[in-house]
Amino acid sequence: MIHLEKNEIYEVEIVDISVDGSGIGKVDGIALFIKDAVIGDVVKAKIMKMKKKYGFARLMEIVTPSPHRVEPRCELHRQCGGCQIQTLDYPEQLRFKQKKVEDHLKIIGKFEDCTVEPVIGMEEPFRYRNKSQFPVARSKGSKNGAEGKLVSGFYALRTHDIIPTKDCQIGIEQNGKIVQAILRFMEKNNISAYDETTGTGLVRHILIRYSFSREEIMVCLVINGNVLPEQKKFIRSLTKIPGMTSICLSVNTEWTNVIMGRDIIYIWGKHYITDDIMGVEFRISPISFYQINSIQTEKLYEKALEFAQLKPEDTVWDLYCGIGTIGLCASSRVKKVYGVEIVSDAVRDARINAQINHITNAKFFIGKAEEVLPNFYSSKDQVESEHPDVIIVDPPRKGCDPALLETILKVQPDRMVYVSCDSATLARDLRILADGGYQILKVQPFDMFPQTVHVESCVLLERMSN
Ligand code: SAH
Repeated sequence: MIHLEKNEIYEVEIVDISVDGSGIGKVDGIALFIKDAVIGDVVKAKIMKMKKKYGFARLMEIVTPSPHRVEPRCELHRQCGGCQIQTLDYPEQLRFKQKKVEDHLKIIGKFEDCTVEPVIGMEEPFRYRNKSQFPVARSKGSKNGAEGKLVSGFYALRTHDIIPTKDCQIGIEQNGKIVQAILRFMEKNNISAYDETTGTGLVRHILIRYSFSREEIMVCLVINGNVLPEQKKFIRSLTKIPGMTSICLSVNTEWTNVIMGRDIIYIWGKHYITDDIMGVEFRISPISFYQINSIQTEKLYEKALEFAQLKPEDTVWDLYCGIGTIGLCASSRVKKVYGVEIVSDAVRDARINAQINHITNAKFFIGKAEEVLPNFYSSKDQVESEHPDVIIVDPPRKGCDPALLETILKVQPDRMVYVSCDSATLARDLRILADGGYQILKVQPFDMFPQTVHVESCVLLERMSN
């Protein structure tokens, strides 16, 4: 086995992508992480740092470019780091994500022969985000003391330096126009931008939300104060933009990296925008949690409900329900839906969403899934009288709490649908469920976040008959 030395240059073929989007190549079995190299490239890379079993190397030369390399749409993709794999063609992005799920199921879950379906991708894998947030600042200015320009864009990777951006390719086209209108308004009316180092200045962030189904736009300006001078002019500059539906201010006077403040002041139009999924109407407020990619969300939910094989007499649990989206989409096909969510604002939205859609068979609990479910089914009678036919879980990246999985194995739903945004914790949890008597019947990944390394999965499990 050769010993890899710092500053040595090696030629390697890139065979995988790491969690942060670096290319991975192997020299004598040792993995090297090489930024800006993509799957299929053969590169020369200089070792910068060696650990026991892996190392980091700098890309020096692309010897043979990958056949899957494409011209990135965004010239800033390297500085930004939001789209880690924009230089990889889309079919290869999807193949990479399918393999990632397969590898996790095999290595972490110890499932030897589990078929992972091809990833369901987007027809147009750009312009998909329904929510964007842009920080605002005044750039440092020139040496002769002249004030810098107002800028808005994104933070450069791992810093708080703003790189001005005219057009983020995964955001909607209108974003650019809205941001420019706001910066012009600020310049004209002498409105200051927030300065992170001193905690002074007014405008901190611009939040834009969009409903693809209704073409409605919400703009929320996050300010370090509770008054926006020249508010009427501000409104006038934004209402010219077609689709403008809601304009509000978020008051955030704290010295913090958290973007949104606690208080919202609605200054024009509705207090929400409306999006439709599977014929159900959802009101999105400035602070609501909502899936970022509406087009793929509908496909994901349709698949989740198809997997659930819903019947009119079923009782269905939607755990980690957010604003109730999955459960409410299921409600017309079943007897009863129970949703559980830890954030009380989201549960309030879920209840309002049930009401505006005239859904009366859905009930929502505020609390931890791992506490609400065991409490609900604390007696055997309850398990029998309200037997859970289907349990759907959609946890955050850290996956399900072991106490929840234990309860699920105890109450024995006939079917389970696991929606996951992290295939590593998914594989870990599936192993527990499989050991507890559930069989994995289908694994369907979705591309909710094109151009990034993330992948969403939807898994069907059924209880094996004893
Ligand atoms: N199913 C929803 C939300 C999924 S995101 C949708 O598709 O939109 C995961 C949700 O789980 C978040 O809303 C988060 O607030 C919630 N959550 C996190 N930990 C939780 C826990 N222990 N119990 C219940 N909900 C939790």
